[in-house]
Amino acid sequence: MDDDTYCAAPGPSAPGPDVPADEGGPFAECVLCRKPTEYPESVKGAPLCPVCAWQEAGRNACSG
Ligand SMILES: [Zn+2]
Repeated sequence: MDDDTYCAAPGPSAPGPDVPADEGGPFAECVLCRKPTEYPESVKGAPLCPVCAWQEAGRNACSG
């Protein structure tokens, strides 16, 4: 199989109008303190900023 067109795979499509970059895009707000987290707005669930995430982790570890 030496079909030249085989390698002509479609390149990455053009970026959409509002596709955020990996860094610097709009970040989801922390559900506790409303500060921007390191997660994108499209993140599912309840994003926590590093501070709240750390506090929640400590709380879960110490409770009970
Ligand atoms: Zn927070």
